Amino acid sequence: MPIGLYIHIPFCETKCSYCDFNTYAGIENLLAQYIDSICKEIKLWGSVIPNANISTIFFGGGTPSYIPANLLGQILNTIKSEMDTTNCTEITIESNPNDLSKIKKLEYYLKIGINRISIGIQSFNDIHLKNIDRRHSSAEGIHAIKNAKSAGFENINIDLMFGLPNQTKYEWIQTLEVVPTIPIQHISMYCLTIEKNTPMFHQVNQGVLQMPDQDLAAEMYEIATDFMKQENFRNYEISNWAKNNKICEHNLAYWKNQQFIGIGPGAHSLLSSYRFSNIESPKKYIQKLKSSPDFEKTQNNKQTDKDKFLTIPTTENYEKQDIKTKMSDTMIMGLRLDSGINLDEFEEKFQIKIEKIFPGKIDKLISENLINKKNNQIKLSDKGKLLGNEVFINFL
Ligand code: SF4
Repeated sequence: MPIGLYIHIPFCETKCSYCDFNTYAGIENLLAQYIDSICKEIKLWGSVIPNANISTIFFGGGTPSYIPANLLGQILNTIKSEMDTTNCTEITIESNPNDLSKIKKLEYYLKIGINRISIGIQSFNDIHLKNIDRRHSSAEGIHAIKNAKSAGFENINIDLMFGLPNQTKYEWIQTLEVVPTIPIQHISMYCLTIEKNTPMFHQVNQGVLQMPDQDLAAEMYEIATDFMKQENFRNYEISNWAKNNKICEHNLAYWKNQQFIGIGPGAHSLLSSYRFSNIESPKKYIQKLKSSPDFEKTQNNKQTDKDKFLTIPTTENYEKQDIKTKMSDTMIMGLRLDSGINLDEFEEKFQIKIEKIFPGKIDKLISENLINKKNNQIKLSDKGKLLGNEVFINFL
């Protein structure tokens, strides 16, 4: 069974005011020990699952492009020596534009096998970038994308956000209008959500920043959907568009409820029907791995999967996916994709009709024009894409 591998790099040069990810500014003193710990966790997993067949690798964060590039090479070498990567087709790095000013660095990424780059552009409007505390300008964003292309990347994603403080519809269109002028194959677009306890949450509460209302944010999503269609990008997932079939294979595995291992503090995993995560604190993560012995690379067939996973000292929060949870996850994740869900395949997989598990829900959602059904395939309608959570709640 193919397994996606996520590597968490929780270092950022500064913390953006809206960000509530498990990432930190000012912990560079931990970097050397952190990389040792990441490599140790990879080795432990290589011992626990000796035949792990890695299909994709994703360096996420945080800002993986912020740390010295040779450290990413060190991590990749460890993965290659401890796990089977012969079928690994995609290695992604998340990056910030101001880390990509040198083509040599980008060429080095390609040399060590990274073949997909995701750049956190967020906006092509300098005032909005400043409002959300991004460290780069619009021009630097464009320069980073062009550098990635010049270095030889043929699979470039940019992240954009809409629903930003004080953002008008016309300013959002201006950001979208840059898209046809840059050499990218993929865009992820998300509406900014204000998380509690972030600096931006307080700025909005104090009236320093004004958020667009929900109707305007929904209109911005509709504008983006129409625009991307004209530009021949396929909206293959609610928030993701790709052209030339350059979909993100790593994320696709999440949406298809397939197996993945998360390495690093706070990273999540799904293996053999178990969901679990690592301890969140980078310091505690390092300490736990420092005091853990290496494992022998032998398979103890008497151990259950859960026992094996529990031998990794940093994992916690185990939860077994029961059959109902698997069905819910299949519905919620599957409906995010433009391929939707085939009702016959669902029945074949779970040996039960969808109607028996979620009685009346499909007909209700069709009557509310939130999903469409054709040839036993159900998909979100345009209205359903805007109101995804109202649809998903029916399958919990
Ligand atoms: S760069 Fe990304 S991960 Fe880092 S603080 Fe900003 S939004 Fe969060």
